Amino acid sequence: MTEGGAAMAEWGDGTRCVHAGSAEPVAGQPFLAGPVLAAPFHLGADDFYGRAGNPTWRALESAIGALDGGLCTVFPSGMAAITTLLRTLLSPGDVLVVPSDGYYLVRTFLTGMDVRVREVPTVGPWTTEVVAGARLVLLETPSNPGLDVCDIRAIAELAHAAGALVAVDNTTATPLGQRPLELGADVSVASDTKAVAGHSDVLFGHISVTDEALWTELQRQRTVSGAIPGPFETWMAHRGLGTLDVRLARQAENAAALVEKLRGHEGVSNVRWPGSPDDPSYAIASRQMRRFGGVFTFELASAELVTRFVEASRLVSAATSFGGLHSTADRRAHWGDPVPEGLIRFSAGLEDSHDLVHDVTAALDRALELPVQ
Ligand SMILES: *Cc1c(COP(=O)(O)O)cnc(C)c1O
Repeated sequence: MTEGGAAMAEWGDGTRCVHAGSAEPVAGQPFLAGPVLAAPFHLGADDFYGRAGNPTWRALESAIGALDGGLCTVFPSGMAAITTLLRTLLSPGDVLVVPSDGYYLVRTFLTGMDVRVREVPTVGPWTTEVVAGARLVLLETPSNPGLDVCDIRAIAELAHAAGALVAVDNTTATPLGQRPLELGADVSVASDTKAVAGHSDVLFGHISVTDEALWTELQRQRTVSGAIPGPFETWMAHRGLGTLDVRLARQAENAAALVEKLRGHEGVSNVRWPGSPDDPSYAIASRQMRRFGGVFTFELASAELVTRFVEASRLVSAATSFGGLHSTADRRAHWGDPVPEGLIRFSAGLEDSHDLVHDVTAALDRALELPVQ
């Protein structure tokens, strides 16, 4: 059965991930149809050329759209999605509000655009002056890498009253963790390279919107610009989406266990995870998020200690990105984020909690030259 957004509403997250966007079962056919690899199609039906559309995109767009509660357009990466959104919505001279502590490449891209950029920290202050005259307010909550959150519903009301559109970069939350469109945002944009695809082997992105005219324009922009995802990558992202619920559950379980241990660990400071009741983000996050993921941050006293920690660990590798099967640690100052030298963005993977907690605490003890417990 093809399950659209409304029909899916009664199901839980696991069922939705497996069945969202599924086509009617056909005897002798696979559960998830393989990638349709075609540049031109034989003419005479809807599909005619692979840059304009193909069934592999539509299957995933229908699945993610059902989870987001909107109309989805897929892109070859998160940045392709974000930059297409900005180019589609903004005209020269427009005012754009962006998070000063969000994904750094967005601000880099904007230096080449003729728009007036207002940078605001995710935690605000969110005042009428901040959104006055803006065409678009881009939020990122929880923010990457700081994991601060903002109140999507309240800011959407403020921004809409000022005549601005609101887009939320929903990458850290995923469509299961947060539904910005239901919270009043006009656009949910994300990098699915992270937890949605989830296996560290594909780059992907999408935009979901509620307005049909905007959806049509985004699809047109993709066709015209040629920034299109390959059918094989699309199929891989769709395959990953099927297990998002169980992967997120394990990642969140591992994050919760690690955060608890790290909070009491000598030499570790500023442990941040929106899912922790002690976290400054928790009050808003627990109200607007449906569930939490596996990304948290903490600080060691220096870059050198971070290197020693990763070297001492048997399970944690240094890698940027997050949301994959493997636990990874990323020292964000290495990439130029305006954060302390020893800040680690940790992505809890799918290892057994017991193994991971033991390995991480032992690696910290060795790095910090504490007696290993
Ligand atoms: C990774 C990331 C992006 C960029 O996505 P790519 O798929 O790497 O292009 C954008 N926003 C956030 C919050 C991200 O974490």
